[in-house]
Amino acid sequence: MRNNALMLCRVCGLEQAHPPWGEDGLSPTYDYCPCCGTEFGYQDSSLAGVVKQRERWLAADARWAEPDVMPAEWDLGAQIRAIPLEWRGPTDSHCKSLPD
Ligand SMILES: [Zn+2]
Repeated sequence: MRNNALMLCRVCGLEQAHPPWGEDGLSPTYDYCPCCGTEFGYQDSSLAGVVKQRERWLAADARWAEPDVMPAEWDLGAQIRAIPLEWRGPTDSHCKSLPD
């Protein structure tokens, strides 16, 4: 059974077409997330990197790196709440304090 967390961007929580870190979670694809622009295997290779990249992305109004593929009904809050707990920083308030 596929672990759903493997399909999500660690930074923004967007579900990807392919697991960003491979089926084993250890083999990054070096593709880019169309939402937050993270390069898998680069900015998201450590928790500190993930948290920093997420802060940078949110500080820039959570803009899509590829606006063309942004869903019309995109829900930032719902997407961020899907980020696996292991990829949230201990002081990561963004995931808890977003408006519904
Ligand atoms: Zn992302």
